[in-house]
Amino acid sequence: MAHVHEVPADLTRNQGLVLGALNRSSGPLSAYDILDRLREDGLRAPLQVYRALDKLVERGLAHRLESLNAFVACADEHCHRKGLIAFAICEGCGKVDEFADAVIEERLGNWAGAKGFKVERTTMEIRGKCAECLKLAA
Ligand SMILES: [Zn+2]
Ligand SMILES: [Zn+2]
Repeated sequence: MAHVHEVPADLTRNQGLVLGALNRSSGPLSAYDILDRLREDGLRAPLQVYRALDKLVERGLAHRLESLNAFVACADEHCHRKGLIAFAICEGCGKVDEFADAVIEERLGNWAGAKGFKVERTTMEIRGKCAECLKLAA
C-alpha cells in the first residue's frame, strides 16, 4: 500500500484530484483510469489529466512507470526525484514498491561520468512477484 502524501496547498484543483486518485489506489493507474475515477468530480478530457500528471511528476509527487505507461503517487515523503528511483512491480497483484539505492546511483554516475553522458533521468523497473504473492503460490 502506497503511503499517503499530504496534498500540498498550492496544487490546482485538478492536480489535487489526480493526486488524490493516485493516493487512494493500491496500484498504478493509467491516465484513462484516473479520468474514469474523476468523472464525477467534473474531469472530462484526457488533456486535463495529462496536464495535472505532468506537473505532479515534475514536482516528484507522482512517478511515471515507463513500461506500464501508468502512474503512481510517490511513496517517499522527501522525494528523491533527482536521484535514481527504482520500482519493483509485482506481476501477480500489480503492487509497486518504490525505493532508492545510493550505491546503484553512484555506479551509474561513475559510468555516465566516464562516458561523458549527461543523465536526464533514470528509472529502474524490476518485474517479478512480491512476497505476498509468492506466499499465496506456495
Ligand atoms: Zn518518489
Ligand atoms: Zn504481488
